[in-house]
Amino acid sequence: MFQSKNLMLDIEQQLTNIGTILKLKNKSVDGIWLRSSCPLSTWTHGHGADNMPSFGIVASDFGFGFHCFSCGHKGRDLDSLLYLLEQFTGSDYEEERERLTRIKYSIAFPDYETWSNTTVQREKLNPLPKEIYLTLYEDAWDIEESRNYLVGRGITEEACKKLELKFDRNENRILFPVFDSKGDLFGFSGRAISDKEKLRIKDYAGLPKKHMLLGEHFIDKTKPVLIVEGLFAYAHLFSIGADKLCNPIALMGASFSQEKVDKLKSKFLVMYLLLDNDMAGRLATYGDSCKNGLANLLAQETPTFVIQWPEGKDDPDQLSFDELQNLMKSAKLFFIKPLTKKYKNDINKSRSNYKKYEYKYNGY
Ligand SMILES: [Zn+2]
Repeated sequence: MFQSKNLMLDIEQQLTNIGTILKLKNKSVDGIWLRSSCPLSTWTHGHGADNMPSFGIVASDFGFGFHCFSCGHKGRDLDSLLYLLEQFTGSDYEEERERLTRIKYSIAFPDYETWSNTTVQREKLNPLPKEIYLTLYEDAWDIEESRNYLVGRGITEEACKKLELKFDRNENRILFPVFDSKGDLFGFSGRAISDKEKLRIKDYAGLPKKHMLLGEHFIDKTKPVLIVEGLFAYAHLFSIGADKLCNPIALMGASFSQEKVDKLKSKFLVMYLLLDNDMAGRLATYGDSCKNGLANLLAQETPTFVIQWPEGKDDPDQLSFDELQNLMKSAKLFFIKPLTKKYKNDINKSRSNYKKYEYKYNGY
């Protein structure tokens, strides 16, 4: 993989220099990796320290990337790390920046992409300092590229501001800040504005996704919850004013965790399910036996309605306010009738047989 032993030694030397410049603690260099205690741990780790070195700087074909496997902070360049340090410490890192730019090398490493896309979720649920994170990125409406993208997807300025959408210029992503019910910030989920981008959705700052529901901080207990899958379905609902009717909540994917189900149940609110009209959405709604789908899990605790898609529509993005209101009015209360033998056989034969059972197992 490496062209020469000398080059490898050179990279190890460079990593050692980087560790010295950044004053990293407990550091060791091995191949393309420098491991150390996380320099952000004072602000981002549970006990304010990282005694088990969980932070790494890696040499890649992009340059030097960093990643903390504990707090989840990562970036493709050391400049982003310096920026974070400046925000947290309030001091200037110009000297370090200057010294780091003098460290250069070039070689193609294949591993960085795979490595950097590993989803790291913080297990300890500590909120992030909002005053820092919400100023790290610019408001999405203020930047032409992201505003054009939002307008193209039917997102209004009012919705963009209400949801506090941000834009990451380096990665060209619209960032959705994710808050808990108290309004504490836990990270961002970012959607690439180019459909050519391989990784359409990328999470930031170690977002503990399995614990989070997007929109939870807006919940108004006098209205039902409307559950959708994706970021833009959620932003669309706010853009058409659906929040006057209900509390839009996004699962941030078509799958759901037990933690999300428990959170939803604990609201004791009427639930409406509006997952995408495709196989993944139907599987999440009904499960593979009707019992382990989200509809049934919620229906055990609270009245749960499943919205039936009208002909020709398959995504909440396509609905107007009036259409949504009518669909909610005509949605059927979910409960399970005993499964027939034929149902079980059909399901075993093919998962595509779902659709014809939706209506049958949904309603009185
Ligand atoms: Zn860390």
